[in-house]
Amino acid sequence: MSKEELNPFAIAQSQLDMAAEIMQLDPATHALLRRPMRELHVAIPVRMDDGTVKVFDGFRVQYNDARGPTKGGIRWHPDETIDTVRALAAWMTWKTAVVDIPLGGAKGGVVCDPKRMSEGERERLARGYIRQTYPVLGETRDVPAPDVATGPQIMSWMLDEYETIVGYKAPGVITGKPLAIGGSAGRTEATGLGVVVTIREALKVLGIQPNQTTAAIQGFGNVAQYAAIHYQRMLGGKVLCVSCWDNDDRKAYTYYKEDGIDPVFLQGITDSYGTIIKEAAVGAGYQILDADAWIAMDVDLLIPAAIENVITGASVQRISPQVRLLAEAANGPTTPDADKVLNERGIYVIPDFLCNAGGVTVSYFEQVQNAYNYYWTAEEAHARLDIKMTSAFHGVDQTAKEYKINNRMGAYVVAVRRVAEASKLRGWV
Ligand code: NAD
Repeated sequence: MSKEELNPFAIAQSQLDMAAEIMQLDPATHALLRRPMRELHVAIPVRMDDGTVKVFDGFRVQYNDARGPTKGGIRWHPDETIDTVRALAAWMTWKTAVVDIPLGGAKGGVVCDPKRMSEGERERLARGYIRQTYPVLGETRDVPAPDVATGPQIMSWMLDEYETIVGYKAPGVITGKPLAIGGSAGRTEATGLGVVVTIREALKVLGIQPNQTTAAIQGFGNVAQYAAIHYQRMLGGKVLCVSCWDNDDRKAYTYYKEDGIDPVFLQGITDSYGTIIKEAAVGAGYQILDADAWIAMDVDLLIPAAIENVITGASVQRISPQVRLLAEAANGPTTPDADKVLNERGIYVIPDFLCNAGGVTVSYFEQVQNAYNYYWTAEEAHARLDIKMTSAFHGVDQTAKEYKINNRMGAYVVAVRRVAEASKLRGWV
C-alpha cells in the first residue's frame, strides 16, 4: 500500500465510510463523524539542559464530544503526525462509545524523542504542553491520559502545571496518575487486562480451551506486559515470544522461548520504554529472532501490542495457518488490505478500539473516584472493568453476527450508532 493509503487517518475514515454504508447513516451525521470537531496545534518552547531553546510541535485533537467530555492519551514520539493524532482521536470516540462510558474522544501528541531527553527536559516539555493547551482542557471538557512514551510521572507534572495555572485542585483533569495524587488502583495493568478479558470471551465464542493456547506478542511496553501476564495467569495460556524496539541497535527483536516466556521475569529486565535488556535475556536462555519473527510464529493467537500498520498486505501472508485469533491490543495495527485477507482466512479479530478499551475504562473509573474523592481497591476496579469489557465484547460479537459483517464493522456499528444518537439528540444533525 502507498504511504497515503497507510495514513492512519485515511484508514480511520475509510473504516467509518464502510460502517456508514452498512448502517445507511444519513449524510450529515456521516460528514460530522468523518472529521475532528476541534483541533489545536501548539509550539512548545523548552529550555534544554545545554541552555538552548528547542521548540516542539504539539497537538490536541478533540474529535467528538456528543456523549460527554473528550478523553484521550498524549503520545510522545519522534514520528508523531497530526494525522496519527486525528486517527487516534477518532478511535477514542468509537472506543468510549463501544464500552458505553459517558465520554467523547480526543488525542494529543508531541513530536519529540523522549529517550534522548533528560528528566528535567521531559518535565519542562510536559509543563510546556499544559501551558499551551490548558484552555481547552478540564474535567468537564477534555481529559488527557498517558499513551506511548508518557506515563504516571509525566501525568503528575502535567496535573501540577494545570492546577498551578487554574489555582485549585482538579485531579479529574488527567487520568493515569500515580496513586499518591489521585490515581486509580489497577489502572497500570488495565489495558492489558482488558485485552485478556476480550480474548477469554472470544475463545469461548470459538469453543477453544484457553489453557491449551499459545500466543505471540509484538511489543513489551505497558499493554503487552500486562496482556502477557494476565493471559498466563487468568487463562493458563503460554506466550512463546514478545518483541520490542532496541534503541541502541535502532531495530526491533523478537525474544523467544520454546517452552514459553516468563513475562514477570522479562518485565524485571525491561526499561520504562518497553525495551528488554538484550544481554540479560540471552543470559536467561532467550533466543533472539528477527523483528518480524513474532508474526510468523506457529501459535493460536497473535497480539500486536506495539505500533500501527504492522499487519499489512505483505506481512499478513506470513501468518501461520495455526492462528485462530488476532487480538488488536495496539491501535491501528491492521491495514485494510490485510483485513480482507484475515476475513477470507476466517481469523477471528478483536478490533483495536474494543480490545484495548480497558485503559480508558479504568481512566473513567479514576475520574469517578476523583469526583467522589473516595477510592476503590484494584480488585473493585478490575471487577467493574471485567463487566464492562465482557458486555462490550458480546455487544460487538452479536452485532457482527446480526448484520453478517466482520467484528471491526460490528464494533463500528455499535459505536457510531451511539455517537450518532447523541449528536442527533443535541440537534447537531
Ligand atoms: P509503550 O511505549 O509502553 O510500549 C510500546 C512497545 O512497543 C515497546 O516495548 C516498544 O519497544 C515496542 N515497539 C515499538 N516499535 C516497535 C517495533 N517496530 N517492533 C516491535 N516492537 C516495537 O506503549 P503502550 O502503552 O504499551 O502502547 C502500545 C500500543 O497500545 C499503542 O498502539 C497504544 O496506542 C496502544 N494503547 C495503549 C494504552 C495504554 O493504556 N497504555 C491504551 C490503549 C491503547
